[in-house]
Amino acid sequence: MENILEVRHLQKAFGRHEVLKDINFTVGQGKIVGLLGKNGSGKTTLMKSVLGLLNHSGEVYFEGKKLDAKDTHAMNRIGVLVDTAFFEDMTAFDNLEILLMSTPHRDNSNRKKNIMELLKFVGLDENARERVKGFSFGMKQRLALAQALLNEPKLLILDEPFVGLDPLGITIVKEKLTELCSKKQASIIFSSHQLSEVEELSEELVVIEDGHVKYFGTYADLARQNKEYRIITDKEVTEELLDCLKSYGCDVKKISERQLHLSHGEKTLDPALCCLHERKFTIYEIIREDRPLETLFS
Ligand code: ADP
Repeated sequence: MENILEVRHLQKAFGRHEVLKDINFTVGQGKIVGLLGKNGSGKTTLMKSVLGLLNHSGEVYFEGKKLDAKDTHAMNRIGVLVDTAFFEDMTAFDNLEILLMSTPHRDNSNRKKNIMELLKFVGLDENARERVKGFSFGMKQRLALAQALLNEPKLLILDEPFVGLDPLGITIVKEKLTELCSKKQASIIFSSHQLSEVEELSEELVVIEDGHVKYFGTYADLARQNKEYRIITDKEVTEELLDCLKSYGCDVKKISERQLHLSHGEKTLDPALCCLHERKFTIYEIIREDRPLETLFS
């Protein structure tokens, strides 16, 4: 299936500060991709660059065509929650209505009903006629999400969409987003600095660090690649043994006289055990000691 979004060699610098050095990833149709990185790693910069809000080098393709921020037809198919601003003196309903009316080529026949449905979707139907300036941060965040969903987008780009929501709000929004993808085949890329948040919602992850994509793949593969073992033997772990294990491609450390630690052991546990066996080591115990995935990004 065609990728809805493709980012190739994207680079962005602010003066001499190279925030994004070479970013490459794709978002498939109907997929939810979590963009993960520490605060300041460049997630917002990446989203703004993709949307053409910042000058950058590299290419962005949407539905197979180079994305041009001036192409209103294409841009209307993308729902955005990045630095959302509202008319604070207007009501939640009016904020959405004004945006909808300013969207070209739009069938506005069911406008009021659609807006109320959206406000219900984000749990703001009872606040529809209240002015935005009285809203809490979390309510504004939900209104921003409603705004992003206004044009039934094929792709949603959401910057930290769960910030400011309470746990129930987070659960509800996650359910709704999942439903949107499965029923309407919409795709989502959303950013977060917390793996736990990303893990629940998305199958795929893009992890950015130091301006590069440190990991792009499924959460399951990442977990599989992260197998760590403690191996307890009957004899002293010598330098010669460690060299031999390393020559087999094992990422090993001696942690005590008779204990080894094997990192990234998915493919190297077998060769490690062979090497030990050849040297007449008896294995007393193999203990799985995976590090929390969070530590991979810190
Ligand atoms: P994140 O969203 O991952 O927290 P940002 O994309 O907001 O990270 O910021 C990445 C880096 O780019 C930070 O060091 C930030 O200070 C810098 N930065 C972001 N926007 C600007 C800007 N308009 N001018 C200069 N530096 C910026």
